[in-house]
Amino acid sequence: MSALLTMTSHAQAVETGTKVGEARVHLLSEGQQKGKTSILIGATPEMVEKQAPDGTFPNAVNAFLIQFSGKNILVDTGFGKRLFDNLQNLGVVAENIDIVLITHAHGDHIGGMLRDGERAFPNAQVYLSQKEHDYWTSDAVKNTNVRQLVAAYKDQLHLFNPAVIGEPATPLVGGVTAIAAYGHTPGHTMYEVESQGEKLLIWGDLTHAMALQMPYPSVAVTYDVDPAQAVKARLEVLNYVSTNAIPVAGMHIAYPAVGKVVKAGNGYIFIWKS
Ligand SMILES: [Zn+2]
Repeated sequence: MSALLTMTSHAQAVETGTKVGEARVHLLSEGQQKGKTSILIGATPEMVEKQAPDGTFPNAVNAFLIQFSGKNILVDTGFGKRLFDNLQNLGVVAENIDIVLITHAHGDHIGGMLRDGERAFPNAQVYLSQKEHDYWTSDAVKNTNVRQLVAAYKDQLHLFNPAVIGEPATPLVGGVTAIAAYGHTPGHTMYEVESQGEKLLIWGDLTHAMALQMPYPSVAVTYDVDPAQAVKARLEVLNYVSTNAIPVAGMHIAYPAVGKVVKAGNGYIFIWKS
């Protein structure tokens, strides 16, 4: 009597994403695109000629998935166009998202929160900074998309005050600390992942035009609600990550959207993760 042997192929598990200690951070790309220099504020013709001679620069729209301690943590949701396919490719369904961290409430960040007016992430705890919430839902601004989001997620929405950069802080959720970088929007918030002494700062919309805003961080963009404050925040954050050698990921950094910032002269250079 011969035993029937079933051959199983043990395919090598391919680890994707960026390792941060025991956490994994996956890029969820909504697409690569080109930005136009017409959105820049404070860029001289010489800067544009040097960094974007054809009037465009590489850009992207990204969200990220942090997998840590058995939890699926989304940071932003992009437009919600490719988001769900991207998650599916990672073996994650929307019902299995435990936490959504929102950097700010522009449409290219909260676009995936609702599907046909319903919650796309029925089991997620959702985090939005108090300032961001108050600005967009105020009578002066009355943003319909944000009001819909707040209403749909009202029983699972957490409003909070992020930490001040460089100061000791308690994590907002396991392994992730929220840090204020106000200016692009009034409550714009970054999320720093930390595990086993390793860190990654997901800096949201700290930059929109890496080609210009790394060498010239004082260049702002027309999307900034408060351009001067956005510049101040960018200078503080670039100093923080370069001084402390903390890798960063950004929502408008071209593929693979992760790298490190190094001081160079009066500005900075960005070294993409290979
Ligand atoms: Zn954006």
